[in-house]
Amino acid sequence: MRRRFALLALSLLAAGSVAAAQPGGARGTPIKDGEECPAGMTEIRPRNCLAPSLPTPSILDYRPRSTLVAPAHPVPRAKYAAIDFHGHPAGQTSSAESIAKFGATLDSIGVRMMVVADNVSGDNLSRLMGLVRGSGEMKDRVRALTGINLRNVGPGWAEAAVKQLEADVAAGAVGVGEIGKGFGLSAKKADGSRLRIDDPELDPIWEACARLKLPVFIHTADPQEFWDVIDYKNERWLELALFPGRRYPPEQYPPFETLMTERDNLLRRHPKTTFVIAHMGWHANDLGRLGKLLDANPNVHTEVGAVLYDIGRQPRTARDFFIKYQDRILFGKDSFQPEEYPYYWRVFETRDDYFDYYRHYHAFWKLYGIDLPDDVLKKVYYKNALRITPALPQSGWPK
Ligand SMILES: [Zn+2]
Repeated sequence: MRRRFALLALSLLAAGSVAAAQPGGARGTPIKDGEECPAGMTEIRPRNCLAPSLPTPSILDYRPRSTLVAPAHPVPRAKYAAIDFHGHPAGQTSSAESIAKFGATLDSIGVRMMVVADNVSGDNLSRLMGLVRGSGEMKDRVRALTGINLRNVGPGWAEAAVKQLEADVAAGAVGVGEIGKGFGLSAKKADGSRLRIDDPELDPIWEACARLKLPVFIHTADPQEFWDVIDYKNERWLELALFPGRRYPPEQYPPFETLMTERDNLLRRHPKTTFVIAHMGWHANDLGRLGKLLDANPNVHTEVGAVLYDIGRQPRTARDFFIKYQDRILFGKDSFQPEEYPYYWRVFETRDDYFDYYRHYHAFWKLYGIDLPDDVLKKVYYKNALRITPALPQSGWPK
């Protein structure tokens, strides 16, 4: 009886006081349901905060060694010949010599073909295709997307743009892109207004792409956090602090959702045009949303460049998504860093747990393998790209 009273008295005291006793003698600060611990403190159990007894490291200095011992299966080369649909080979294709060297680099990572997504048009395209065609064994391993000049859209623009597109197809272009993120964000029309992604003056070019069977590879916007306030709740705080220019202040740029709406209008309005939305449309962190977009638009495909951190942090959901949408996903890497490709292969091909991503400022978390079945890997690595891009060299691929 006496002991029960003492316990009751103690818990009343704890609830009403600022500091409560903690195991080991440390004292915590209670908070109410839904409240957060004050700065410098952490929640040690529900509704109870404590400050560490040592000076707190910054997120740059806290680099704990993982004690996890688990099977690890690095994958230096893709299991099946891959097509990098989002290629920016930066100098690798500038001369016959560099193209030959480029072949050896691609072999070392298991990439059989690169689709150069550098908007290569006119003389630049002819020069590139001349080098590729004359390069012996590289002649079927590099192809290029052409660009659309989105400056000065206004009267007469569409006729000239379609003419250039037809000339570039004759010179060897296999698709269009990468249409850059400036489209929608900053590109202006001839009259000075912002060029909206769904501007009807552009319709003739999208219709020409359908007629010429050219997939349109389009990058719209950027991670949504680049529009958000930079505070300690922003998942990309570190990236935005390292590269402040990546932020889109609301007074200068249209909101993220405006760009998504305009993009979705474009995709919907041209059902005969094949679109590939880069970076999983910046919805890799919300695969349900991306799935709805793909369900509503059978003409739309997506590409995985530079969003591996989102795929690898949700291995079960991502695996289900890749299996469900196995005909709609293309491999692409974006910036050409050969040593980064194996991270993609490891996520796609293994069931490894808790391994590092290659770019720490994108993700402070670890990745997990999603263990895709072989027939899905083949589609993502090359079959889907071949199917939607009829002008790619179609022979000699594994069945
Ligand atoms: Zn790109």
